[in-house]
Amino acid sequence: MSHVQYGNGVVGPVDGLVVPRYAGLTTFARLPRREDVDSYDVAVLGVPFDAGVTYRPGARFGPSAIRQASRLLRPYNPALEAAPFELAQVVDAGDVACNPFDIPAALEQIRAGVSGVVRGGRSAVMLGGDHTIALPILRALHAEHGPLALVHFDAHLDTWDTYFDAPYTHGTPFRRASEEGLIVKGRSAHVGLRSSLYDRRDLVDDEELGFTAIHARDMDRLGVAGVLERVLDRVGDAPLYVSVDIDVLDPAFAPATGTPEAGGLTSRELLAILRGLEPLRLVGADIVEVSPAYDHAEVTAVAAANLAYEFVTLLALRSGR
Ligand code: MN
Ligand code: MN
Repeated sequence: MSHVQYGNGVVGPVDGLVVPRYAGLTTFARLPRREDVDSYDVAVLGVPFDAGVTYRPGARFGPSAIRQASRLLRPYNPALEAAPFELAQVVDAGDVACNPFDIPAALEQIRAGVSGVVRGGRSAVMLGGDHTIALPILRALHAEHGPLALVHFDAHLDTWDTYFDAPYTHGTPFRRASEEGLIVKGRSAHVGLRSSLYDRRDLVDDEELGFTAIHARDMDRLGVAGVLERVLDRVGDAPLYVSVDIDVLDPAFAPATGTPEAGGLTSRELLAILRGLEPLRLVGADIVEVSPAYDHAEVTAVAAANLAYEFVTLLALRSGR
């Protein structure tokens, strides 16, 4: 192994000054696998499930594309002034094996997989997969932390009720989460909304489920600082889960996704907002809906890998090793 060995006993990524970044087997950021170390604080976990999509498929290949695009990530994060892979033991925990034909069975596999990874106060960044996976992830984290504030970055509400009578799809996870009491009503927010809706009532229902809506068009007026202020105020001191549907980015920055919508955030805006979440009690995060077959020059996968790096840094800063 050519992994960096830090003085505090932490095993870092494969050293990019010894083995070129394009060489070797692929784990997230070339980090050790969970089974390579005695213990860990933060895990990156793939959830290659996309049987809940309503439009373009293919997010089952998201985790492997994001891992491939993460090879260039280096050990020091200058924006957050932190070396996440030294501050905490970060590992790649592999993928949850999800049944591609039976959604309820897959939801249970994902809940159990996440539960096993975060047990004992550990935290995790999940790589999807379509947005259906957020529901079983929230079930697993609720068992550890109780009800969570949810900050949801997405072009879409994802609080619809059913689609073709199906209750568990990538358009419904946050209605189910609210119904199940997994989220703190009044502490949760959507950021980046901009899709057309079925009816004005969709927004009314959404508010009743406990969310406030920050639309993509609000970025013009509020800017990054204004959006952050609203989010920090909304979440307060509640334990926080952040879910990023990559379609919150404009298709110029993330073409490879299942349900693209024009007029989204830039990668730079989203990175800045995520970094600004540092004061909050983040316990986990996901990045979903990367569908690599629609990608060009790894544009979307690179954005997702960089977003995951910010989450890993935020969680490493909180892990207090
Ligand atoms: Mn979406
Ligand atoms: Mn979504």
